[in-house]
Amino acid sequence: RAPRPVYVLITDGKVQIKEASHIWGKDTVRTEESIRKENGDDDLKIAAIGPAGERLSRISAIINDGGRAAARSGLGAVMGWKNLKALACKGNGRPELFDKKRVDELVKGLMEDMRQRPTHMYQVLSAFGTPGAVVPHLSTHDTPIKNWAGNNIEDFPQEKWPKVGWEGMEKYVQKKYACTGCPIACGGWVKVEGRYRVEKGHKPEYETLAAFGPMCLVDDMEALIYANELCNLYGFDTISAGATIAFAMECYEKGILSKSETDGIELTWGNADAMIKVLEKMGRREGIGDLLADGAKFAAERIGRGAEDCAMHVGGELVPMHDPRFAPGWGATYVSDPTPARHTRGGTQFLEVGALDPAVLSLWGLEEVPAKLDKYNPEGKGRIHALMVARQYLVETSGTCLFAADGLRFPFIEFLRAVTGFDVDPKELLKTGRRIATLLHAFNLREGFRPSNFRLPPRVAGNPPLRVGALKDITIDPEYLKRQYYEAMGFDYETGEIRKEVLKELGLEGLVG
Ligand code: SF4
Repeated sequence: RAPRPVYVLITDGKVQIKEASHIWGKDTVRTEESIRKENGDDDLKIAAIGPAGERLSRISAIINDGGRAAARSGLGAVMGWKNLKALACKGNGRPELFDKKRVDELVKGLMEDMRQRPTHMYQVLSAFGTPGAVVPHLSTHDTPIKNWAGNNIEDFPQEKWPKVGWEGMEKYVQKKYACTGCPIACGGWVKVEGRYRVEKGHKPEYETLAAFGPMCLVDDMEALIYANELCNLYGFDTISAGATIAFAMECYEKGILSKSETDGIELTWGNADAMIKVLEKMGRREGIGDLLADGAKFAAERIGRGAEDCAMHVGGELVPMHDPRFAPGWGATYVSDPTPARHTRGGTQFLEVGALDPAVLSLWGLEEVPAKLDKYNPEGKGRIHALMVARQYLVETSGTCLFAADGLRFPFIEFLRAVTGFDVDPKELLKTGRRIATLLHAFNLREGFRPSNFRLPPRVAGNPPLRVGALKDITIDPEYLKRQYYEAMGFDYETGEIRKEVLKELGLEGLVG
């Protein structure tokens, strides 16, 4: 831990630790501007924390490019605790490719494939980005509503859906953008004039729109864009921030939080102004904002009076915006992954809704995995869940975008061979993915976590079930699939202990246990 605020500057392999007291307290965009200016280099790439991370919020994020976030699990607070304001990097070298000619061929083939036979996911993402998923997800009820207790007929009816999706956002979009070299280009810049003014902000993603929109019953797109911008500037995880405000709205409705405890704010459902005021207070850790700045779990513990029943978290992590009652694989992933409540981890969920092109599965040597699973029958899914988890860990640890891996017919293994020269086969790679999952699980065991620490809130599992809407009367049991998944991975369901023969098979016996 640095004795006072610093940032780390890495240029062409040279590492410098630089004074950051003068930028401590600045938002993420102003931080980036200051660091570029004082180093006279507009091309520096910067990952920074905002005031939320500095104030050790457990829902704070690390933000790069003013609005792309390493958002979940409170990573911003880790940097804040270390007094590390930012990492700034620049390099003039280029990564070496083992077989450049083959890489070029693969890129050409991939682009040709998307031109001739674009997948549905590619078409949606490249035209609209993730906001294009809002209306479809609301119509199937994959999107939670009113802190997971509402439905898509009475509480957030059909006429509101386009207001919080691409249809309501399109007029604010100025320009599309892509991460370096990406053909999908799902990002975009937005501009809003008027009360919720945003001069140049990032287009909010699906998760953000859902967390501040249907979860809080807010259908004002300008407020949603503004909330997204505030999260980027303060450095908050938008899922956790939106879901925590939904939690507070429910507490207010039930009289668990009084008006004096909300600093006089009428924190009623759908009140966009109140939502924004509370979010700003969270960024400053002021009054009600201080109470909520660590997320719903910690707020509920401080409030008491039954507030815990309104806190929709797994192990402290707010549940993301995909409903296990719609695709039960989400539930098993939320409670079995070492970083709980993650929508970017693998599992059977995409197969339950038929969202993966079968060609993507065969590119991974996963022909045995059916492209469409029976949603509500968990029987025999444990091994498939484990395979999908392993595959996704490989994608993520390689630095490949999940949208590219799932939305293009992306020949991952071919690319890996051409880039690295490793002569890998699918079986070996999936074993590597399993090893990654097992190591993370072992880390949690060492730190004292047990499987029972990660449980889905009863309401999120449909207990009690919704009375109307697309998920009417549905209750799921995520523990059933978790048990099967643990069996497939060689983990004990009660203690989490890893079987000795599994450690041996994965070559981890010297490291764990
Ligand atoms: S790499 Fe992924 S996040 Fe970036 S523009 Fe492409 S699809 Fe979007």
